[in-house]
Amino acid sequence: MHDHRTLLEGRVKRFVDDHLTPALVRARTPLSLESWEVEDEPVPFAEAVGQTFSPLSVGSRWGKPWGTVWMHATGAVPQEWSDGGALPEGTRAEVWVDLGFVGNPGFNAEGLAWRPDGTIIKGVAPDNYWLPVPEDGRVDFYLEAASNPDFGIRGFKPTPMGDKATAGPGPLYTLRAFDVVLLDVGVWELERDIWTLNGLMHTLSVEDARRHAILHALQEMVDAVDPSDVAGTAAAGRAALAPALASPAVPSAHQVTAVGHAHIDSAWLWPLRETVRKCARTFSNVADLADADPDFVFACSSAQQLAWIERDYPELFERIRTLVQRGQFVPVGGMWVESDTNMPGGEAMARQFVAGKQFFLDRFGVETEEVWLPDSFGYSAALPQIVAASSSKWFLTQKISWNQTNTFPHHTFWWEGIDGSRVFTHFPPADTYNARISGEELHRAARQYREKGRGTRSLMPFGHGDGGGGPTREMVAAAHRTASLEGSAQVQIASPREFFSAAEEEYGAQAPVWSGEMYLELHRGTYTSQLRTKQGNRRNEHLLREAELWAATAAVRGVADYPYEELTELWQLLLLHQFHDILPGSSIAWVHTDAEHNHARITRGAQAIIDAALTALAGKGEQVLLANAAPHVRDGVPALGLGAPQVAGDAVRVERDGADVVLDNGLLRVRVDGRGLVTSLVDAASGRESIAPGGAAGLLQLHRDEPVAWDAWDIDEYYRRQVTDLTDVDSLEVGGSEDRAEVTVTRSTAASTIVQRYVLERGAVSLRIEHELDWHERQKLLKLAVPTDVHADRAASEIQFGHVLRPTHTNTSWEAARFETVAHRWVHVGEPDYGVVVSNDSTYGHDIRRSTRADGGTTTTVRLSLVRAPLYPDPEADQGRHELAVTIRPGALVPDAVEEGYRTNLRPRRITGGAPVAPLVTVSNPQVVVESVKLAEDRSGDVVVRLYESEGRRATGTVELTDGASGVQVVDLLERADGYGAVPCGELVDGRAELSLRPFQLVTLRFSR
Ligand SMILES: [Zn+2]
Repeated sequence: MHDHRTLLEGRVKRFVDDHLTPALVRARTPLSLESWEVEDEPVPFAEAVGQTFSPLSVGSRWGKPWGTVWMHATGAVPQEWSDGGALPEGTRAEVWVDLGFVGNPGFNAEGLAWRPDGTIIKGVAPDNYWLPVPEDGRVDFYLEAASNPDFGIRGFKPTPMGDKATAGPGPLYTLRAFDVVLLDVGVWELERDIWTLNGLMHTLSVEDARRHAILHALQEMVDAVDPSDVAGTAAAGRAALAPALASPAVPSAHQVTAVGHAHIDSAWLWPLRETVRKCARTFSNVADLADADPDFVFACSSAQQLAWIERDYPELFERIRTLVQRGQFVPVGGMWVESDTNMPGGEAMARQFVAGKQFFLDRFGVETEEVWLPDSFGYSAALPQIVAASSSKWFLTQKISWNQTNTFPHHTFWWEGIDGSRVFTHFPPADTYNARISGEELHRAARQYREKGRGTRSLMPFGHGDGGGGPTREMVAAAHRTASLEGSAQVQIASPREFFSAAEEEYGAQAPVWSGEMYLELHRGTYTSQLRTKQGNRRNEHLLREAELWAATAAVRGVADYPYEELTELWQLLLLHQFHDILPGSSIAWVHTDAEHNHARITRGAQAIIDAALTALAGKGEQVLLANAAPHVRDGVPALGLGAPQVAGDAVRVERDGADVVLDNGLLRVRVDGRGLVTSLVDAASGRESIAPGGAAGLLQLHRDEPVAWDAWDIDEYYRRQVTDLTDVDSLEVGGSEDRAEVTVTRSTAASTIVQRYVLERGAVSLRIEHELDWHERQKLLKLAVPTDVHADRAASEIQFGHVLRPTHTNTSWEAARFETVAHRWVHVGEPDYGVVVSNDSTYGHDIRRSTRADGGTTTTVRLSLVRAPLYPDPEADQGRHELAVTIRPGALVPDAVEEGYRTNLRPRRITGGAPVAPLVTVSNPQVVVESVKLAEDRSGDVVVRLYESEGRRATGTVELTDGASGVQVVDLLERADGYGAVPCGELVDGRAELSLRPFQLVTLRFSR
């Protein structure tokens, strides 16, 4: 047979474009329009409809950047469309809106339609621009149209659009249509048939007979549909395709569980307030689809987003509750937001689950068991244990498919954390969380799925995400057509729980194991970008720790009430800002301005709680007291207690030695040279030099930082090719007192000024380097180097509830790809009996490398990424003043690192009061670290203590509530004992917990009183 395949495929495409798509609408008529433009920020429906509206015509320009125009559309289905009072068979009247859409849904203009009674109809956006017409044929709608700017996300060009102050006046869009249309349902169904079959056909091999059978059927369809009477012949076209659509899938075909989804970023290229509206638009679309199709299932992952709906759209929230009961709207994830997981501290990471799961339980009675993080930028090795401790069972992401270098070897596997906990994990092999259920996506899922032969199934989240929109009726139609279709994966719409249960049953016993972090080989700049947002997070995590500790102590002692509501509110605000485009620094200016404002609010709130509790606890008096919230003794004050500080140690001596300055407090001897760099750092206990020969700590290194793409997200490996060492000194001053000696060095570049202050305090075992930056670079990365004379094969970096060990070499492509890594408060490089800790109060990005010197020794260099200056999406990112501190502690092992991390981040809090206050909780073994002390969320007055083994070895110890307890239980993160007996950790007797912990074990204890 002659081969006309290419020609015939072209014939189908041309036929659809020229004849079929235009025939979707049999008739259309414009509605009468009037509009009112909101002056600034969005207003509620009731306020909008009371305004004076002006006439609006199609073709007019509308919408200033971030503005809102309320459009009022009225009219009716024309009489002449009716055939004896009813519309022609196979047709339906709808309203179609085109606000001037460009590109993808969620990244430009979008709207929410309301009835005059204030109830919501649904959202409109590209790909989902229709609204149902009431049965009486009369249209009276309000459309809350948002003129959100298009950011051209793939171009990464600096844009002023991310801030109302710089975005300009607009208008941005041209209203193209607001019509009543007569939709030909038969033509629509035929177009769907073709879309699915044509998409499948293009995925099949040209050697495959099925491909040709589909092409033949498509030709029969084109033959059968008369271009001059598409409406009248569409049914014949469908009949021509019916046999090809009815041919069933082979039994071994890959099984796809399709889950409706909208990965709505809680803020990104839009501010938080716009996300609230995006959720309303998307969830109302979902409710509409669910009502239309009882098989439709939608998974919603963020408690915060539903909390917004509950607050601002109560009627929609009630619809969602009904859908949850029907099993069509499925809460998943169990987190407050889809947070970053690299940077949130241990307690905050736990609280994402506490706040999220509790919300879903309270509002819907649903216990979420599947953790849902399709888009976060890498996954901490602490997560498996935290997931298990939250009584969740499963984990889903697909982001690791974005790796630049290495292909992850599994799609379904057990993921093992630092403590040995395992969680059953799935990566959707279609490599997207925004699927449309196209032939290409289904083929990709089946082709790439790496568990073939043993596993048979994967999950496919479908629906417009990122900027919202969610699933469309076209996607649902595609799912139904591919339930069993020869040549295609088999699609079933179902819940994530159904998928995970089936996958674990099928494959759980054989699935491979991935141990440790799931490092994303991309977006390495997110550990550093938007320093102020990161500092706000870090400082507030520690302030909330203090607030809960002191408030719990005061409440148990009966001197103050526990501020449950304030703490819940402050925590939720903090958790929101750990969202995976906020804490990583990848959002527009507006979002980061909001973040700084909200972090300041949390700081004020937490500070007020701390002040009130400490004042109540310490009583009146003039005694100077140190409030030690750290889990270690400090200046003679017990951990978690309040007492008179006793700083031991010699006076700090300052000597000049030529151009050098030497600081010595009897414990540490520091030499700062004329360049303002630390050329020697020796602890008296070991007498060993910690600084590598020829090296100098405190060295600031300025790199060009011009990523290929994803500016705020990425540091590309070639950044190392250019570096400027900032060794010139504007001034070097020596000062301070016997308690605190300082060497202050001022340096400058053409654009920026940097002050480095080396501080050695009486009794201190670490050198503190305080930085004041007036930062005005563009596309630069500032690193701080600490070259140590240490032979370290691997470095320890703090993560939540423990640390990870990463090689310092680059033997394999996996190690080479980790050229920038994340750490929380400290990193440690060491030999078995000696090491150096580098601790920080602000930043997360690090690189740690080793080199061999000419003398044969090894230099292990720790570098912190202090600040960047990316231009997209916020062209002013990181500009201006910053303060941050780093400490270097030589002669230190991992337990010292843990202590140093708390010390750097919990700065001394001195108050005056009447008397010391004994700790509420005591722990007999410092290896067991208390992360959190609080009162129970259920307001029973029980005391909750969260602790962990901090060194990666076994530990025993006693934890006691000093005020006495009537009982103590091991509970899950949600403070529940029921059904959570799987964590044996020793004897629980006489109100004391006698613990025996595994390496890095996380335990939550609940003391009743
Ligand atoms: Zn996202």
